[in-house]
Amino acid sequence: MKINSEIYKKIETIVSSEFVSDADEDRFCYSYDAAGGKSLPDLVVRPATAEEISKIVMLANEYLIPVIPRGSGSGFVGGSTPVSGGIVLILTRMSKIIYVDEDNLTAEVEPGVITQKLQQEVEKSGLFYPPDPASLKFSTIGGNVAVNSGGPRAIKYGVTKDYILGLEAVLPTGETIHTGVKTVKGVVGYDLTRLLIGSEGTLAIITKILLKLLPKPKKVRTALAVFPEVDDAARAVTEIIRSKIIPATLEFMDCTAMQCVEDYLEVGLPKKAGAMLLIEVDGDDDVVDKEIKQIDLLCNKCNTVQILIAADDQEQRKLWTARRAISPALGRLKPTKINEDIVVPRTKVPSIIKRIRKIAEDLNLTIINFGHAGDGNIHVNIMTDKEDKDEYERAEKAVKEIFSAVLDLEGTISGEHGVGLTKSPYIRMEIEPVALRKMEEIKKIFDPNNIMNPGKIF
Ligand SMILES: Cc1cc2nc3c(=O)[nH]c(=O)nc-3n(C[C@H](O)[C@H](O)[C@H](O)COP(=O)(O)OP(=O)(O)OC[C@H]3O[C@@H](n4cnc5c(N)ncnc54)[C@H](O)[C@@H]3O)c2cc1C
Repeated sequence: MKINSEIYKKIETIVSSEFVSDADEDRFCYSYDAAGGKSLPDLVVRPATAEEISKIVMLANEYLIPVIPRGSGSGFVGGSTPVSGGIVLILTRMSKIIYVDEDNLTAEVEPGVITQKLQQEVEKSGLFYPPDPASLKFSTIGGNVAVNSGGPRAIKYGVTKDYILGLEAVLPTGETIHTGVKTVKGVVGYDLTRLLIGSEGTLAIITKILLKLLPKPKKVRTALAVFPEVDDAARAVTEIIRSKIIPATLEFMDCTAMQCVEDYLEVGLPKKAGAMLLIEVDGDDDVVDKEIKQIDLLCNKCNTVQILIAADDQEQRKLWTARRAISPALGRLKPTKINEDIVVPRTKVPSIIKRIRKIAEDLNLTIINFGHAGDGNIHVNIMTDKEDKDEYERAEKAVKEIFSAVLDLEGTISGEHGVGLTKSPYIRMEIEPVALRKMEEIKKIFDPNNIMNPGKIF
């Protein structure tokens, strides 16, 4: 149903009028996320409390108005794009860190807290919140939980779901539920916390998050190693893991990504090399120093052509420059980027890279690969131009062929971005019919009127 003046007024009485807008400029600003597709909402609402959200959702459920929860809109799969119009519910006003509990190693936060702000806050107490999506300067914790975000540190520390003990969430009926426990252990009933993590705003609106924290590692050391071939870099990854070292990050760039960054920044990356690894270890001083020496030896054993080990923070930041420059470097190549985040078992990284290169060659496309070699999560960027119909069709064909190759290698089509809108046409390639039917039934139980973020995942 369209939002008429009567419904508008009712919403204004729930949140004050300055936090409700149907102005064209607001509707336009919240019509898209980092995936780029546009679709206008009818209304933009910025609630401040779970109670306000509950009242808005009850109204939306009564009048069958779609509700699209939104953090910072940095999602890469169109998850917060209002494809059926309705109310975009922006959660950034709910940005309190409620407490940090140093004795129980927990923190409770509202969903609009920016990921980096949380990390900085807990670090003041010598604590550590490991999940580190590259978007951490602007993504919200609520968005991270809703898509189960990962980042470079996933190889050692896991992803968002590994740090969530419990949630408060508002259901489409307006009821509020509390899931999980404040303790490390707790097995009473079904695990609704895990169900809501990664549900992409299709089941409920997350309004409070209870997080698990760790003590902050004492020291970090970083190395950058360049290899003649992808196979050599992959062998180095296997050797490092086999030697029982679990690096905090093990980032990977293939030759396409290295060339792209070198053309952009001229930082001295060899253009003819096959791949690069950025390796970071963390922990106690003596352990970290020993591990970085061992990594140096292992990379040399795997034919590294260059290895740089940072002596201090400044050198560390310099080594990260190339990896951090990929996004702007890509932006110069073509106007449209189809960004996939496939995962394969880490020993199969060379096989998937070879298959992607073959697909790029056969379809005459530029495809740039980089990502998290430690957990086999590769960001595959198909560079194209939406206006060039023929090339765009070839790019879409490439996506399907890449997904087939990934599944053939026992991987998954998304490691951290989620399904949202852009991957929903492919979900059937990975999820078997019975499992998918059960997921659709769960969605119906939570949201019988399909008001929560309709058009996403399924
Ligand atoms: C430059 C860049 C780098 C990135 N790097 C990474 C990376 O390394 N790892 C990674 O995992 N992702 C990465 N991303 C993707 C993105 O930042 C993450 O998916 C992030 O978690 C989204 O957070 P957000 O606050 O922007 O959420 P949004 O984009 O606003 O929303 C994402 C989804 O969550 C839902 N949602 C948001 N808040 C709530 C809530 N409170 N309750 C219920 N549902 C909610 C929305 O409806 C939507 O479906 C990157 C994005 C960019 C632009």
